[in-house]
Formats: sequence, structure tokens, C-alpha cells
Amino acid sequence: AKDLGKYCYAFYQKDLSDKADYRFKVEQYLREAIENFQLTLVYQPQVDINSGVITGVEALSRWHHPQLGQVSPIDFIGTAERIGMIKPLTEWVLKTACNQAVSWKRSGLPVVRMAVNISPSHFLDSDLIPLIQKVLKESGMVASELELEVTESVVQTSQQNLSVFRGLKELGVLLAIDDFGTGYSSFASLKHLNVDYLKIDKYFIDDMLNDRKSELLVGSMIEMGHNLGHEIIAEGIETPEQLGMLEKMCCETAQGYLFSRPVSADAIAELLEKEKIT
Ligand code: C2E
Ligand code: CA
Ligand code: CA
Ligand code: CA
Repeated sequence: AKDLGKYCYAFYQKDLSDKADYRFKVEQYLREAIENFQLTLVYQPQVDINSGVITGVEALSRWHHPQLGQVSPIDFIGTAERIGMIKPLTEWVLKTACNQAVSWKRSGLPVVRMAVNISPSHFLDSDLIPLIQKVLKESGMVASELELEVTESVVQTSQQNLSVFRGLKELGVLLAIDDFGTGYSSFASLKHLNVDYLKIDKYFIDDMLNDRKSELLVGSMIEMGHNLGHEIIAEGIETPEQLGMLEKMCCETAQGYLFSRPVSADAIAELLEKEKIT
């Protein structure tokens, strides 16, 4: 038993150092990748439920490293925050996404909203508003065609947060609360905030058809959102049944694999050519 214990201990140690090693590599390579613009963006359609028309796309970052392979944004966004690289990353995402939207528009494709994720730490930074201003100006993007998605964790009613929200609204950009329903502060703070969209988290959508409570929660969130003047985007829609239920609940917009996975800019251009994808 003693030997086995030792063995397990050694094994555990090795496992830990492998993990530390992997983490160290991710940090090192990510810094290089951001500095050398080696990330890419894919775009996922947001579809108007009544008409089936694409009304927006969400830009999502991808990172493929020759040695590490494909790294999930769940991992590298957190890493970028930890190593102080989230600002240059976000700046690159904003520029690339806005340039892309302007380029689609100039080639005569239907105009769609461009949604960009802003991580909570960056959202609270005083640099954000000047950055957005700069990117809009340099890209020629119309402010009302850019949507910023922030998670509920920033929706606290501190004076600082409120002034960031106000400043962004003054610029004319659209604001969405991402992953709505999964945070702690949502309901109380919504009354102070002037956001355009609530994005209902996939977590609730997943269970909606086989769990009555999830169904009721989604219905209530949609109704409450509407009463407060927000439009609703449901995310993670994978089946026609989910879509049907959301339509009955008067949800405006849906996003999910049912319509399309996140795809390249060229693939989006093809979808926009067709205008309707349902
Ligand atoms: P999110 O903002 O909630 O984005 C939605 C995620 O759900 C995306 O994962 C998308 O690919 C996935 N998804 C969409 N529809 C479906 C569906 O029908 N089924 C399933 N199973 N999944 C679906 P992804 O691209 O892996 O991104 C994960 C998270 O990483 C994002 O969650 C977001 O929080 C973060 N992220 C990605 N790109 C960026 C970025 O450029 N900046 C920041 N700050 N965060 C980003
Ligand atoms: Ca998002
Ligand atoms: Ca989300
Ligand atoms: Ca999510």
C-alpha cells in the first residue's frame, strides 16, 4: 500500500507539472499570437425568428497554435485576462469585426449588427470608450450597427459601471447582457441600465423542452425583458422544437447550431447573399 501510495503521489506530481507546463506554454504562445495577430474570427448568425432573416452576427475568436492545436476561447480569454493581454486582444477583435462589417456592407450585402464580446475587466476600464470611438472612426462603422456583449458580472450598480454604460449609449452602440440568467445581480440591476438586448443563456434553452421549470423560466425572462423594454436573443438553439417554443413565447431573435455554427467571413457572405437561411 505504501508503494502504491508513492506511485500515486509521483503520478499526481507529474500530472500537476504537465498541467503547469501546458499553462505556461499557453501563456507564452498566446502573448506571441496576440502580438503577431495570429488569432482569427468566426461569425455566428443571429436570426429573426418571425422572418428567418439574419439580423446580426456574433464575432467569436479562434486560436490555432502549431504545437498546442486548437485552444478553446474559454481557456485563452481567461489566460489573456490573467497575463494582461485582454486589451490588445479586444482591440484586434473590434477592429477586425468592424472592418469586416463595413466590407460586407460596401459589397452590397444586407446590413447586419456586429456583436463583439467585451470581457468584464476591460469593460470597466476607462480606455474602453476612447477605443470604441477610435475603432468606429477608423473603420467607418456606424455606431448603431455595433453591439457589445457583456456578461452579468459587470451589471452591478456601482457609479463607475453606470457611467460606462451611459458613455457607451451616448456613442450610439447597442448593448447586450450576455449569458442572462446565470449571474447573481441581474434582476435588481436591470432597472438602472439602458441595455438593448438580453441574451438568454444556453443553459436554460437546453432543458426547456423536457423540464417544465426551465420552460417557465425562459418564458418569464422573455416577458420580464419585454416589459422592461429589452429585445431578447436566445442562444444555443439546436432544434426546431426549441425554436417553435421560443416563437410562441414571442422571443425576437435566435442564435445556435440549428441555423449555423460560427463560420468564416466568406461563409457568412454566402448566407447573406441568400438573405434567408431558414
Ligand atoms: P459566448 O459569448 O456565450 O458565446 C457563445 C458560445 O456558444 C460560442 O462558443 C458558440 O460557438 C457556442 N454556441 C453557439 N450556438 C451553439 C449551439 O447551438 N450549441 C452549442 N453547443 N454551442 C453553441 P465559443 O466560440 O467556444 O466561445 C466560448 C466563449 O468564449 C464565449 O461564450 C465568450 O464568452 C468567449 N469568447 C469567444 N470569443 C471571444 C472574444 O473575442 N472576446 C471575449 N471577451 N470573449 C470571447
Ligand atoms: Ca457572447
Ligand atoms: Ca452567451
Ligand atoms: Ca455562454
